[in-house]
Amino acid sequence: MSKIKLIITNKPKNKFLVCVKNAFAHTFSAFSRALYPNNIKCLCCGKDLKTKQDIEICDVCLNMLTFIPETSCCKKCGSFITGSGDYCFNCMDNKREFDVGRSVVVFKDLAQGLVHSFKFGAKPYIKNALGNLMTNKLLSLGWKFDVIVPVPVSKKRLKQRGYNQAYLLGEVISKNLDVPVLNDVLIKAKETPDQVGLNFNDRQENLKGSIKVNNSQHLKDKTVLLVDDVITTGATSSICAKALKQAGAKCVYVISFANVQDKIHTEKNAETKQKNKK
Ligand SMILES: [Zn+2]
Ligand SMILES: [Zn+2]
Repeated sequence: MSKIKLIITNKPKNKFLVCVKNAFAHTFSAFSRALYPNNIKCLCCGKDLKTKQDIEICDVCLNMLTFIPETSCCKKCGSFITGSGDYCFNCMDNKREFDVGRSVVVFKDLAQGLVHSFKFGAKPYIKNALGNLMTNKLLSLGWKFDVIVPVPVSKKRLKQRGYNQAYLLGEVISKNLDVPVLNDVLIKAKETPDQVGLNFNDRQENLKGSIKVNNSQHLKDKTVLLVDDVITTGATSSICAKALKQAGAKCVYVISFANVQDKIHTEKNAETKQKNKK
């Protein structure tokens, strides 16, 4: 580190050295900014936080997130349900291959922004806040599991993004709870078209044959925690859980930071009410 500083701060003697110095300083600062943001600021609003904290989100922004309580969620997939009933429409209509799923917040407003920055904004350090919130949720649920498996991304996505966001979240949970994270067990064997706008069945069809298991000996009779950043319809979690179980896993829990289904549920609820009126 001291050598690097020396090169940057030494006065360059000619134009070539100025270029080298600038290029190096630029790369170094982008790299260090990506890994260690300069000051401790709220990840949502940018306000200075007085002290370093495990969840780098200010109280105002934390209060604006819609946390999903146990009393108002689908008992199967964990999506937020505002109406009556124990299960969301997707869980009532479709077979779920995972045992139970839960998410920390509803995927909207600030939560949506956070996930967007984490996934597409080259800010891998957001993993700490999200991973710590997910750890708190897991502790409140009291789940016991033997291994953590992240939902995989394709090689192409990995190359574009530089990291698998689900693996980074798995790493934080692994460190917090001292449970190993296995990054080489689930493989996304083929690139699939974008899933935006697709319903559960279309997604299921879209993902068919795309998830493979490697090194299945690590899964035999194990309880697995499957980790993802966002659950949309639960199709990906379900397909991953099926592959894990076929490879010998005894039980598959799913945890994600955010869950989209609130919107789908509300819309479907409205549709049903409309139909009943007719
Ligand atoms: Zn804030
Ligand atoms: Zn559900």
